[in-house]
Amino acid sequence: MSDEAMKYSNPQWRETLSSMEVPLAVRSSKIALECLETLVSEGRLSFDQGVELMKEKEISSVTSLANMVKKSRFSKHVFFNENLHVNSTNICVLACRFCAFRKGPRHPDAYTLNTDQYLDRIRPYSDSIDEVHTVGGLHPTWTVNEYCQLFSSLKEEFPKIHIKALTAVEIKHLSTRSSLSIEETLSILSMSGLDSLPGGGAEILVDSVRDRICMGKESSDEYLDIHGIAHSLGMPTNCTMLFGTIETIEDRITHLLRLREQQDLSGGFQCFVPYPFLPDKTRLPEAQLSSGLETIRMISVSRLMLDNIPHIKAYRMNIGDKLASFAINCGADDLDGTVGHEEIMHEAGSKTSLTTSSEQLARMIVKTGSVPVKRNSSYSKFETIILPEDKPIKSLPVVALGV
Ligand code: SF4
Repeated sequence: MSDEAMKYSNPQWRETLSSMEVPLAVRSSKIALECLETLVSEGRLSFDQGVELMKEKEISSVTSLANMVKKSRFSKHVFFNENLHVNSTNICVLACRFCAFRKGPRHPDAYTLNTDQYLDRIRPYSDSIDEVHTVGGLHPTWTVNEYCQLFSSLKEEFPKIHIKALTAVEIKHLSTRSSLSIEETLSILSMSGLDSLPGGGAEILVDSVRDRICMGKESSDEYLDIHGIAHSLGMPTNCTMLFGTIETIEDRITHLLRLREQQDLSGGFQCFVPYPFLPDKTRLPEAQLSSGLETIRMISVSRLMLDNIPHIKAYRMNIGDKLASFAINCGADDLDGTVGHEEIMHEAGSKTSLTTSSEQLARMIVKTGSVPVKRNSSYSKFETIILPEDKPIKSLPVVALGV
């Protein structure tokens, strides 16, 4: 961890946690107290504890404990970045049942961006972003060459922009299409400018669920292996969970434990992004859906189970700004970014504004009693945001962190 990163996170968070005042909501819950004791004694929450947290009637005990852990790690800091989503193509050879984004090649709304179109999307934002997030469908004819062309052109014109692109299943698809190993595929893409992988496509890492909601996608093992290989090449990644389809509570906890195990092995997950299924225009009528409170609970339980993945994101593109703001005091420490343009969640029904500026994001964070911190994509550079009329918000001194 860089010196600067150390100013914004607390490696001794368990020690800090042990000295924090325990809220009544946590004290009143047998399972929350038990989990607190496990965490302060250097332990990790078990599968059974995770399931119990998901079933605890008093949800405030779970959210309060998650808030304690978040504060022990990051104090009042909440992170965001200035980014832009640009989808490369919506043409996909698969047809995941929860996906409202993909189109068949002959659909009137099908598209693929060529290099000029890709750069044209980025140019209007280039002064105000430091990350481009690019994912897309599994194009039937594209190989690594098309993506190398996009990424190298982007880097040539905007060398300082971080490229976070291509989910694990896209990497698998490109490696097959290009007759390359996963390692070769990632190395070639990295040389052309790819900096990190997003976490999309994890859905639920239980193959019996995957077979029903996203038949043909990479298996759970393949998802984890691809991320592990990226980590071994020095490429950081995120990880995600799509919940509220057909999975059980036990499946969700299994998913978290599989990510935790992978992180023990390869260590390159920066951020976990749990988000609920949005049903618009999809083909999953049997989905159980997730209420707002269940979404918050899932974010809280993720914070508690994933002791080795530092950041938990409230993905406001999916859950909306109000719920994302609420999640800040329930375990989330990251709000994604300015985003600018987003198709995947909006095709599925998201109404989240796409014109939120950095200042508006910072204001949203301040309203929750937190301190907004702009970060870069690798969480190695930070800037505490001081809003003009919200004095006295200031950068916190190092000694104040972790309390
Ligand atoms: S989720 Fe991804 S892989 Fe599945 S249909 Fe949609 S674009 Fe294709």
